[in-house]
Amino acid sequence: MYDENNIFAKILRKEIPCDKIYEDEFSLFFNDINPQAKVHVLGIPKFPCTTFSDFIKNTDNKIVSSFFKSVQLVINRLNIEKEGYRLITNSGINGGQEVPHFHIHILAGEKIGRLR
Ligand code: 5GP
Repeated sequence: MYDENNIFAKILRKEIPCDKIYEDEFSLFFNDINPQAKVHVLGIPKFPCTTFSDFIKNTDNKIVSSFFKSVQLVINRLNIEKEGYRLITNSGINGGQEVPHFHIHILAGEKIGRLR
């Protein structure tokens, strides 16, 4: 069940501000408020979906494709492809997801280190 009051839903409704990097018809990318690397951008679809699986299963393929193409577009804009980056999506309790609106973390700008 999607929580319309989650923080990213409020950002999409422009009820709270964000430091926008890129926006198009289907997606919004903005800087994380508590960056874990020199570059830490969050990408979200403009649709109510709680997790990666919810997004993939319940969203039109055109939108899914557009979202991931936008991730690459942002990677290009940030000029991080050559030196590398990490994409993360946390899902559910075991995944450590805090905000229940599907999002991708783009981490870059320095060596991110091992996951554990
Ligand atoms: P999660 O743990 O759900 O994968 O990640 C949620 C992310 O959202 C965290 O990295 C956190 O710093 C970020 N975040 C939480 N609240 C806000 C906010 O109000 N604005 C922005 N820009 N990022 C937020």
